[in-house]
Amino acid sequence: MIPIEEIYSDPRIVENLNACINCGVCTALCPAADYYDYEPRYIERVVLSHDPVALEELMSSDYIWYCGQCMSCKARCPRKNAPGVVVSALRYWSQKTGLFAKSKMGRNQVLIKQSIGQNIYDLGYCVHPSKLTKEAHPEQGPVWEWIFNNREKAYSLVNANIDKEGAGPMRKISDDAVNEIHSILKGTGALDLWETIENSVKETSINNKK
Ligand code: SF4
Ligand code: SF4
Repeated sequence: MIPIEEIYSDPRIVENLNACINCGVCTALCPAADYYDYEPRYIERVVLSHDPVALEELMSSDYIWYCGQCMSCKARCPRKNAPGVVVSALRYWSQKTGLFAKSKMGRNQVLIKQSIGQNIYDLGYCVHPSKLTKEAHPEQGPVWEWIFNNREKAYSLVNANIDKEGAGPMRKISDDAVNEIHSILKGTGALDLWETIENSVKETSINNKK
């Protein structure tokens, strides 16, 4: 059973979903709708229906992970809805309830947590040269390989100051600042959410093997 009252009290839903006139402007301009069988208008329809079964189904599916969070829909909706923000709330509740692990795109969240999330926790950066590998990004092609083989030269072109004290891109983030990031992640509940994400994906893979 999903926590329906808590979901509908989420400020992202309260403040970004008014009556929808089903005009389809959000779908017409949504870049994700060009790539996937996806309509932000459908998201609004399901959430406004207050149907817990339909909502749970939506939160368990790939559908909520198609949105690119560009927020183009927010600027153009004649009812001042922001489907992208509503999606963001549904993603949170999908993770919080473990429903995300029922869909393939949902389960990818564990990879985001283990890469970007862990980088932020360890170093204060989303992406950092010390955490990259050549093998993990074959799609980048020969430029990527050149960067790996000529790291110092490549990063000097953007005045990088990798892992050193002082100013500049990729400078070392002080221990105090990293500790503050830890406090923020703990205080906002992000660490608990990460644990839920890891455990839900583990449980799903154990159940799938049974
Ligand atoms: S643009 Fe706004 S009113 Fe129109 S379908 Fe989308 S959410 Fe509904
Ligand atoms: S925020 Fe999401 S739903 Fe809105 S236009 Fe961008 S991709 Fe589409």
